[in-house]
Amino acid sequence: MQRITIAYGDGIGTEIMDATLQIMKAAGAQLEYDVIEIGEKVYNRGIQSGIAPESWDTLRRNKVFLKSPITTPQGGGFKSLNVTVRKTLGLFANVRPCQAFSPYVKTHFPKMDLVVIRENEEDLYAGIEHQQTAEVIQCLKLVSRPGCEKVIRYAFEYARAYGRKRVTCMTKDNIMKFTDGLFHRIFNEVAAEYPDIEHNHFIIDIGAAMLADKPERFDVVVTLNLYGDIISDITAEVAGSVGMGGSANIGDDFAMFEAIHGSAPDITGKGIANPSGLLNAACMMLVHIGQSAVAENIQNALMKTLEDGIHTGDIYTEGMSNERVGTQQFAEALIERLGQRPEHLKAVSYNKEQPPIHITVSPTKPVVKKLVGVDVFVDWTGANRNPNELGDILKELAGDNMKLKMITNRGVKVYPDGLPETFCTDHWRCRFVSLDSLLSPVYQGTGAARPMQPKDIADLLTRIDNAGINFIKTENLYWMDGERVYSLGQGE
Ligand code: NAD
Repeated sequence: MQRITIAYGDGIGTEIMDATLQIMKAAGAQLEYDVIEIGEKVYNRGIQSGIAPESWDTLRRNKVFLKSPITTPQGGGFKSLNVTVRKTLGLFANVRPCQAFSPYVKTHFPKMDLVVIRENEEDLYAGIEHQQTAEVIQCLKLVSRPGCEKVIRYAFEYARAYGRKRVTCMTKDNIMKFTDGLFHRIFNEVAAEYPDIEHNHFIIDIGAAMLADKPERFDVVVTLNLYGDIISDITAEVAGSVGMGGSANIGDDFAMFEAIHGSAPDITGKGIANPSGLLNAACMMLVHIGQSAVAENIQNALMKTLEDGIHTGDIYTEGMSNERVGTQQFAEALIERLGQRPEHLKAVSYNKEQPPIHITVSPTKPVVKKLVGVDVFVDWTGANRNPNELGDILKELAGDNMKLKMITNRGVKVYPDGLPETFCTDHWRCRFVSLDSLLSPVYQGTGAARPMQPKDIADLLTRIDNAGINFIKTENLYWMDGERVYSLGQGE
């Protein structure tokens, strides 16, 4: 018997959770439940995260969470419950299978059967945003080596465990050479350890277009958080119905399972919601906790129910469907079919011996870090925003140990040798590099120039401040193990 946490959520949440629990019980799932409250009722009590503090104890104790959708409150001040749960419990991989059930559920891609595995904790979702000038706001994209390795390794282990043949990585590393480049590089490193699984890479823009046009060509897709968020919605949509999809959020010790759709307020209380999304999520959960025989039974009965034309309104098609049923009738029809297998759709068959997937990441190797410069960002609108004027002021402030290398505006080099046509905002990145780093390697550290220290930056900022220029942030420039690990400015 496994004890899990469940939450009925909002909108159609209760209707689809009742149907799901009923079906799992009839199929012989060995489960006990603790119920926690999440969503609107909790937000309305003034708890901004949408989950009461005492519920965390239940989640921690049971480690497995089956969650119905919630209604996200409108307006500022509220935090996304999903993001809070994912980050708090370290749920690093979001797994979303998207399968066509054609012709029973209408889709343009009858052979589509893929899984999107999305990194769940990092990237632009760190939620670190700052307005720095009247005109410019930034959002930090943070990507870590262990974060990438965990999700990529999970994708390969998942492919092995579920008999999948190929893992495709999608990044934008032609533009973001360091962040997305890290994800791609680790993908290649990890792929080499799985010679039994094919691997390839697509730039995310063409990859997303291919997923929308030829999804049957893909098997497992692994990608960063934002891209994964977008492509998993594309794949769910083109698979046929948002009402069918389930997803898992997997961590080292915890896991959360949910339907991909929301609380569907437009059909709430009508008893017509399709419970298949939550049910498919529940089947992912059953496999995760070692009750894969029960999951197999439910998924095969679900496909048989679809084949028999017993359809909820969202997937009902004249000519293909035999009966338009509500949530409860759909559950009953499925329960009647437990033990049966689909005749036309591909039956599910799990490897019952499969041990649970556990991911160990490689320890981080120490690096030799050398400070070689600093990007100082300034808020400046003087001299009609003429970059040469700013350059002339700043080059005098560089001191005896650094040199002003360039100034960019939104990444475009405007000093020296900028073009007058370039549109300039009030946000300037001014790159100072140490004279030591400009020497050829033979002369570095010989005393020909003093190696740069963090205090040099503090002194530089003091000089900039004394000159009446408003600095807004700095980024240190490093070499690590002798390699440049920051992007060059255009034309540098
Ligand atoms: P939605 O997914 O709730 O609904 C979109 C459309 O799909 C609606 O027409 C709805 O009736 C239909 N639909 C969804 N699930 C269905 C099902 N099981 N059976 C039949 N039809 C179904 O998306 P929305 O309307 O944009 O969002 C409603 C609320 O849900 C919002 O507050 C949103 O923030 C929230 N939401 C929550 C989650 C979550 O908890 N994980 C996910 C997405 C949206």
